[in-house]
Amino acid sequence: MNKLLVTILSLTTCLFATSQPAYFYPQAGKINPAMPTPEQFLGYAIGSHHTRHDKLVEYIKELDKLSDRIAVQIVGETYEHRQQIAAIYTSAANHSRLEEIRKAHLAGQITGATENIPLVIQLGYNVHGNEPSSSEAAMLTAYYLTASEDPETLQWLDQMVILMDPNINPDGRDRHSNWANMHKANPPVADPIDREHTEVWPGGRFNHYWFDMNRDWFLAVHPETRNRLRFFHYWRPYVQTDHHEMGSNSTFYFDPGKSSSNNPVVPEDLYNTIYPKFGQYFSQALNQIGSMYFTKEAFDKLYPGYGSSYINFYGGAGFLFEQASSRGHLQETSTIPLTFAFTIRNQFVSSLTTIRASLAEKALLLKMRAAFYRSSAETAKKSPVKAYVFGDVNDETRTKAFVDLLLMHYIDVYEVEKTEVYNGQRFEAAKTYVVPVDQPNYIMIRSVFEKGITYTDSLFYDASTWSLIHAYDLPYAELRTAPSKGKKITSVTQTASQVERSNYVYVFDLRDYNAHKAIYQLQSKGVIVQSAFRPFTATIAGTQKTFGYGSVIIPVQLQKISTDSIFKAVSDAGKNSNLKIYSLGSAYNTGGIDLGSGYVRTLRTPQVMMLVGQGVAATEAGEIWHLLDQRIGMPITKLDITNFVRADLHRYNTIIMVSGSYTVFDKPATDKLKLWLQNGGTLITLKTAGEWAIKQGFTKEKLVAADTIKPKITPRFNYDNAVDIEGAKALGGSIFAVDLDTTHPIGFGTTNRKISIYKNGQTIFLPSTNIYSTVAQYTNNPLIGGYLHAASLKKIKTNAAIVVGGEGNGRVILFADNPNFRGTWYGTNKLFLNALFFGSHMSVPAVVE
Ligand SMILES: [Zn+2]
Repeated sequence: MNKLLVTILSLTTCLFATSQPAYFYPQAGKINPAMPTPEQFLGYAIGSHHTRHDKLVEYIKELDKLSDRIAVQIVGETYEHRQQIAAIYTSAANHSRLEEIRKAHLAGQITGATENIPLVIQLGYNVHGNEPSSSEAAMLTAYYLTASEDPETLQWLDQMVILMDPNINPDGRDRHSNWANMHKANPPVADPIDREHTEVWPGGRFNHYWFDMNRDWFLAVHPETRNRLRFFHYWRPYVQTDHHEMGSNSTFYFDPGKSSSNNPVVPEDLYNTIYPKFGQYFSQALNQIGSMYFTKEAFDKLYPGYGSSYINFYGGAGFLFEQASSRGHLQETSTIPLTFAFTIRNQFVSSLTTIRASLAEKALLLKMRAAFYRSSAETAKKSPVKAYVFGDVNDETRTKAFVDLLLMHYIDVYEVEKTEVYNGQRFEAAKTYVVPVDQPNYIMIRSVFEKGITYTDSLFYDASTWSLIHAYDLPYAELRTAPSKGKKITSVTQTASQVERSNYVYVFDLRDYNAHKAIYQLQSKGVIVQSAFRPFTATIAGTQKTFGYGSVIIPVQLQKISTDSIFKAVSDAGKNSNLKIYSLGSAYNTGGIDLGSGYVRTLRTPQVMMLVGQGVAATEAGEIWHLLDQRIGMPITKLDITNFVRADLHRYNTIIMVSGSYTVFDKPATDKLKLWLQNGGTLITLKTAGEWAIKQGFTKEKLVAADTIKPKITPRFNYDNAVDIEGAKALGGSIFAVDLDTTHPIGFGTTNRKISIYKNGQTIFLPSTNIYSTVAQYTNNPLIGGYLHAASLKKIKTNAAIVVGGEGNGRVILFADNPNFRGTWYGTNKLFLNALFFGSHMSVPAVVE
């Protein structure tokens, strides 16, 4: 770009009174003029425009071309094919022996003997797409680290390896950046209600499937996270930053956070020493530029899935930065208007300060990590539990998905050598895995398996428990003696299964997680698929095999397509779903129903529509979209609620409503939905959508009243206590036990009646007045893990978690909770899929009085 043009651009942007160097890095010292500033490369001043992800990547790659201090790696791509890159900054000399440094760094971690090896830290930006200041700061940081000739910068490069993920959520960031840019006015409009500052649903916070990427470090559902975790563990840095934005009237936040919500499995050193120490550096840097800030009063690091907490479970230090958002280029606040550039400067200054503090406190970081692994080994030694075994004999897919997750977190998993019975449950050798506690990453093992970790606080920024073994709802046992372990698992491979050709009938069980995927695949190829509403025992190759409720039957002669086409469709479905599909020569069974029984129903193909748009919970809707897209391979129409009046509902046999206000539903819209329902539709509601359906009179099922517990005398408290006392009553996210009717189509394919569900809301139903329609009921003592206020317990216990209400020829399936929470609740996913696949075959049985 020619110099004159740059000058003109700088002059025309009214957001800058001073030049970029004077504003962002006035004390930079000597700068290498051969390196292009972001402004020179992009053609606009940082802060005057939102930089598209591809331009950001191009800029960092350009620096890589021109400088021997930086190496760029492509670590993967997002759903929308945006490249994920990682940049590594260190001196040219270090770059030439980078692999040697990495190996020595990893080898010395547990002992802390890495004093003479460059310190490895990582900077991470823009996890929430509509919190864009930090990726702009990433470009300034990239520039600074490659162009600055300042002795301090040279020392950093000489003594450190600085890793950078310049944009954690490229799809979300571009969604927001395009929004802000396309509405940018000249002169800028600071009115907070202007379209520039008020994105349309679902906004840029989330990734492609509307997931919050700042929860996914622990759950590893998405490729962005999985690629990032591989890079993280490849380097295992000592420090990881995570930059965010918050309300426009706020200031700036850095750690230390709330001391009452320190994670109790993480050694205290981090909270008591590292955070306060680093806090001094941040405070000093922000004092210098006149920025206001706060610490200690908000945000927690309990949950291991934040960018600022994940590293804490590996003996590192995660740092959270929260900047008041200009959400757009300029926005009014309660004081002076906030410029985008100002928000970027705070993030940039914090980035450089993190580097400065990390190097200055290197000894402390090394000591902390060594102490972390020492204390972790001691705790493991003292632990009464020596190993966890797990595995579902009927569900290889779900079991292996869990193994895969453990491997993502560098937890060692082994096969078991012998079949054993623990606590009355049979764990078969070929289908059971063991995780011994005696291994380096024991702290992460605790987070994955333990449900009873007690926390001192009762106010939670997010969940209060996240025991993943319950999310996957796998049979497991805690063992006092570790069993002899077999082969170490290094990667997860599914058993490919061959189908034998049949001219009569194919069958498969519903208990494998992929069964619904296979059903849909067969249906979409024109295969007529049936389901056994009662179990049966068939003779297969001379042995008896029992098929559970809902097992799938494909009668070869009752099809519209040829026997060859059926065989091909069945073989493909078996292969794509890694499912064991059996060929039978007889419909006569030795136990239960025969294959031509009246209890065998022909399944209708789900034709599903989900209401989305303003006022609807984007993450709940996104989880369903992701489940059907990525795990089932089934299309779902996402209908914006504003288009409901003109939609032809005859196209759908199933409609989903997730939590939301649905205020746009006027009388004609509500009547239209009700008519569709009465004519045989299946309406599935999640959480508060069920409350809406009840209020509209769609079903006679009833809610548990919100205020069932009335105090005898009216107490009086100090005003200042309100936040804590009222906040403690929230159902922020805990795990509960329900008794599931496994003979009900919603419960088909689930082996145990007692299953775990995740609850993070106040919707609770009374048991149905129809004695057959309470599908899942919270047990009398339902809390499995997490925080629960005594008043909430009274409301929950023995009430209903899932009920099915009838309306004309249709039915309303009400889930009090979210069965698809964060794409991780593999156990309750099945109940939701059953609602889709069996919904139109469910009746509400008549009760003879
Ligand atoms: Zn954020």
